[in-house]
Amino acid sequence: MALCFVSCSASSGPIQQLSTSESQKNHRLSRIVKTIVQISAQSRSISSSPIDSLRRGNWVKLICGASFEDVVDVRNLSLVYTLAGVDCIDCAAEASVVNAVNEGIEAARQIAPVRRPWVMVSVNDDEDLHFRKAEFDPLDCPPDCSRPCERVCPADAIPPARLIMDEESPRKSGVITERCYGCGRCLHSCPYDKISSITYVRDAASTLQLLRRDDVDAIEIHTNARQTDSFKELWNSLAASVSHVKLVAVSLPDVGDSTLSCMKSLYSIMKPNLTCHNLWQLDGRPMSGDIGRGTTRETIAFAVRLAAIRDKPCGFLQLAGGTNSHTVDSLKKVELFQNTLDPENYSGEACSPKDVSNSEAIIGGVAYGGYARKIVGRVLHELQNKHGVTGVENHPLYLEESLREAMALVGSIKDYDLSKYEMELYHG
Ligand code: SF4
Ligand code: SF4
Repeated sequence: MALCFVSCSASSGPIQQLSTSESQKNHRLSRIVKTIVQISAQSRSISSSPIDSLRRGNWVKLICGASFEDVVDVRNLSLVYTLAGVDCIDCAAEASVVNAVNEGIEAARQIAPVRRPWVMVSVNDDEDLHFRKAEFDPLDCPPDCSRPCERVCPADAIPPARLIMDEESPRKSGVITERCYGCGRCLHSCPYDKISSITYVRDAASTLQLLRRDDVDAIEIHTNARQTDSFKELWNSLAASVSHVKLVAVSLPDVGDSTLSCMKSLYSIMKPNLTCHNLWQLDGRPMSGDIGRGTTRETIAFAVRLAAIRDKPCGFLQLAGGTNSHTVDSLKKVELFQNTLDPENYSGEACSPKDVSNSEAIIGGVAYGGYARKIVGRVLHELQNKHGVTGVENHPLYLEESLREAMALVGSIKDYDLSKYEMELYHG
């Protein structure tokens, strides 16, 4: 039976109907490898260094989620997006999650000779939406509730009532904590106001240990950009280990006219200990990219405002928050996609002039979170429903399907067109 790489939808039946022999599996895997090698050879942007990607404006980061701790999903997502050519994988600052990311990366590199993406850990300096978990007591819910909470959860973190009430292993919480990434949609969906959220701040001492690991390359600090005291405190506690990483990112929301002064204050706090590159993550509309087309508008508007400011502090700019398959087209419309910086129009005092070149992109790239997880996650969930906990590489048909989704997203920035290679994949 011919492989349906070109036209199968992720939720379609053929995946479930196919049974694969070992030789079919090997044949499919070898076609995947061949395709990736061809794409790597023709698209320099997925084989060069992540810093070069930032300079050229084709950096892509996968956000696993600062609170998402389902290590099976994290491993498989990391594997798929490593093969697709991302520059960086951002995950919770938790040792088991970091291990899962690195396992996924190494499993991908066993399949094809791809570059290792950087691994970034995310922490927060204060209360932040990305660092919270929903919870409710399922025994307190009216038995006739239609469970809208379960339907709105994008992470499948609220299991069906029959699983919660399983007499053999009743769940104390209605939420699978490791899958909840704090998007908040369930909080507003409950007609009985039964769901609450708990926020937390990542422990600086364990983050210090993570930064010293050889398989951690970058750190991201989420800040609410309203005050800098807690940022300073966190930065000072991490300063001894920051020299171990290659990139420090600061993720901040758009706080209007005070954004620039906040960035300058944050940069002045970091500068004495900043021995590596730095990046500003412009978090337009947090954790919303999977909702629809319009969610990307806020991060594009944020980028347009910052791009026009001449005296911003040093550091690459990267979009996040609401990013999805419409983001690149929106960037092109405002002429910020891989557009380069004009040194004549730059007057940043905090940045060394040698760091500014006319070949450097104004916007370094894009980070994808909820949308990237959604398009690959539906394939991974189908795999898990059918085969239980397993590596996606053991099921080449699922690997192909998830790669098709991931490469369509990553390829729009990395300048490779998967459709050029699909015929070869199809005919083997
Ligand atoms: S809807 Fe969002 S906040 Fe609620 S359980 Fe799901 S992931 Fe967590
Ligand atoms: S919507 Fe509210 S009451 Fe209904 S199952 Fe969910 S948490 Fe319980």
